[in-house]
Parts: sequence; C-alpha cells; structure tokens
Amino acid sequence: MRKRVVIMDQDQSEQTVETLNPAAQEQTLADLAPARYECAPCGYVYEPDQGDSSADIPPGTAFEDLPISWRCPVCGVGKSQFQNIGAGNVPSGFQENLNYGLGVNTLTPNQKNLLIFGGLALAVLFFLSLYGLN
Ligand code: FE
Repeated sequence: MRKRVVIMDQDQSEQTVETLNPAAQEQTLADLAPARYECAPCGYVYEPDQGDSSADIPPGTAFEDLPISWRCPVCGVGKSQFQNIGAGNVPSGFQENLNYGLGVNTLTPNQKNLLIFGGLALAVLFFLSLYGLN
C-alpha cells in the first residue's frame, strides 16, 4: 500500500512526495548481502565472498571496496564496465520468515536444488530397486 503526500508550497504549485509504508521498506536477505558484479564484455562474475586471488583481493571484499586500479582478471576492463547482478547464494525472502517452512526457508537456492533433485534421484533408485525383489 502506498501513501501519497501532497505538499503545497507558497506559489500553490503542487509537489508530491511518494512515501512507502514501513513493510515495503524492509529489505530481503538478497538486498542485504554483498552484491555480485558481472563484467559486461566477458561475463566474468566478481563474487565478494571469494575475492580475487590473482589481484590479492581477500575473500569478503565488497565490489565497492575494490581499489580503482582493480581490473577484470579475464579481459582487463575497469570497474565501470561491471554491472550489479544482485547477491548470489543467499536464502530468498525476509529474515523474519526463515523460521517457517519446516526449515526449508533457510536453504540457499543451490541447497534447495540439491534437496529437490537429490530426492527425485533417490525415489527413482528406490523404485528401480523393487526389481530386485524377484
Ligand atoms: Fe571481463
């Protein structure tokens, strides 16, 4: 829900200020985690939790904290050629919802894939094992 605030100044021209309700201003875990950046020319992705060992950038360094002189380790372009592609492997949604969903909400996307497709593979193996009953 949005509230619309109208401010009338001295010459009666109307100025509007959009304000969001507090719930809409809460940030998801992906918003809070350090963002990954992708090199537009070559597709290299800078992962903050891995750093860049070729340039002695320690793991945990945010893209914004990289020195100006840092260049793409693959193609050599500068930081201005990189685009924010959001955080990587963090649980989706809001912090306050992590306790719901029988613990599944705390899983990262990769862990959910493993759970789903690993479960399917186990189910297939189980049904194939029924042939062994003869
Ligand atoms: Fe590059």
